[in-house]
Amino acid sequence: MKIIDSHVHCGIQDTYPPQALDDYLYAIKDSPITGAAMFPPVMEIYDRTDPFFTDTPEWRSRRQAANEYLLALQGCPIDVFPYFFIWNDFAARQITDGHYGIKWHRHDDEPQYHYDDPACLAAIAAIRERKLPVVLEEELGNTIRFVNEIARGVRVIIPHMGMLNGGYRQIAAAGLWDNPDVWADTALASSSEILDYINCRGHERLLFGSDFPFGHPPAELAKIDRLNIDDDIKADICANNLLRLYERIGQFT
Ligand SMILES: [Zn+2]
Repeated sequence: MKIIDSHVHCGIQDTYPPQALDDYLYAIKDSPITGAAMFPPVMEIYDRTDPFFTDTPEWRSRRQAANEYLLALQGCPIDVFPYFFIWNDFAARQITDGHYGIKWHRHDDEPQYHYDDPACLAAIAAIRERKLPVVLEEELGNTIRFVNEIARGVRVIIPHMGMLNGGYRQIAAAGLWDNPDVWADTALASSSEILDYINCRGHERLLFGSDFPFGHPPAELAKIDRLNIDDDIKADICANNLLRLYERIGQFT
C-alpha cells in the first residue's frame, strides 16, 4: 500500500533544523511512508525575517539551487514528488516536466507577493496550463483573493486545514472548503478539525501531510490512523487522493 506525505520541506542550504533528504529518511525509518511531495525550506527562497526584503542575484541563485536540489533526488528509496517554490521573480520558466506542484508561501509578517505584477498572472497561467496543484499558505485575505480571483481554475491545497491561512473556521466561513478546486492537508491540524471536515465535506480532497521538519511524519501518520473512519477512507487520504491529483498532470507523469 502506498502512503505519501504531501507536505515535506527538504533542502541542504537551510540546516536549521536539518532537513536534507537523509534527515527525512531517518525520520520515517520504520514507518510505512513510501513517498513524499517535497518543497524547499522557506529560508532557501526569501528572507522571511525581513518584511521589507528585496530580491538580490544571490537570493535568486539560492532559490534556483533549492528548487534544483529536489529535481535531482532521483533513485532514492522513496518516491519523491518535487514542487517548485515560486517567489516574486515568478520564474515560471524554471517549472519543468519533473514538477508535480507549486509551493506558494507567506505569513503576514513576511515580504509580500506582488500579485499585481503581470509576471504573477503569467506564472499562474503557466501553472494552470500544466494543471499543477498549488500548496498555498497565505494570510486569509490573500487566500480568498487567490482562490476566487487570481488563480481561478487552479487546484489549491490549503495546508494545516487552514491553521496558518486564517484558521479552519474562517476558511469555512469564506466558503472556500466548498469550492471543488480547494483541497486541504492534515499537517499539524487537530483531529477534531479533520473529522469535522470529513463529516461536512467528504474526504476526496483531503491529503495526509506532516510538514517535516516542523511535524514528525510517523506521529502525523498515526494521527490519521487513529481517526474513527473506514480504512478505505484512510487509504484515500494517505495516497489515492494525491495520486488522483497527479493524474491530472497526465502527460508529465
Ligand atoms: Zn510547511
